[in-house]
Amino acid sequence: MTPDVRPFVAGNWKMNGLSGSLAEIEAMRLGADAGEAGAAELVVCPPATLLAQAAFKLSGSKLGLGGQDCHPEASGAFTGDISAPMLKDAGASYVIVGHSERRTHHHETDELVRAKAQAALKAGLTPIVCVGETLAEREAGQQAAVVIRQLRRSLPPETTSETVVIAYEPVWAIGTGLTPTFGDIAVVHNGIRALLTEIGGPSSAKTRILYGGSVKPTNCREILTLNNVDGALIGGASLKAADFLAIAAAYR
Ligand code: PEP
Repeated sequence: MTPDVRPFVAGNWKMNGLSGSLAEIEAMRLGADAGEAGAAELVVCPPATLLAQAAFKLSGSKLGLGGQDCHPEASGAFTGDISAPMLKDAGASYVIVGHSERRTHHHETDELVRAKAQAALKAGLTPIVCVGETLAEREAGQQAAVVIRQLRRSLPPETTSETVVIAYEPVWAIGTGLTPTFGDIAVVHNGIRALLTEIGGPSSAKTRILYGGSVKPTNCREILTLNNVDGALIGGASLKAADFLAIAAAYR
């Protein structure tokens, strides 16, 4: 946790969810509106096909909405892609960029991630910029260096603590049930905070830095109370409202 920083808990549904899953979003809304996330800001990022319907359900609620990716251009001949203005128009306030699954399966570079983050900012969305090392990089002890390098290249220079959220997600911890030690998480988060302060000065010192990678109701409390861990990006455990709310309840 960082003093005076509002925690942030986001769920990434990835390529999961049909219209029947809107019942889970409705249950999340009820929990968020009943204060189950305490002081934390709660956001769900369903597949783009559900965004507009989810936005309709969430109108006036405390549960926010995000997309999972955007194209760097606002419009054009990019079959199958979705632009940041389209996500905004569908009701999103956030968009995940640079998730490791995009970096791996779609060969996204830091430069492309930065362009997507800039497109998000231009459309009035807050980018959730993801970084994280592979298992080989971790085994070589390069995690901090990799994350700092990715952030230096992926973060648009114009971002401030108000306009960006960062998610540190070790690639080998995503969907595997494995997590770094609490000490290892703290070292990387402290390094990110130091970098933010170096490149952005005091205005970046309060940027929210999330941890992601196999966060569950059973391990969230220890992780979420670590120094400079300001919330979580949650994959698998965000698909069920009960688990997602149980994680957010760490902030009650
Ligand atoms: C993710 O996809 O961002 C993620 C952290 O997944 P999981 O929680 O399933 O590890």
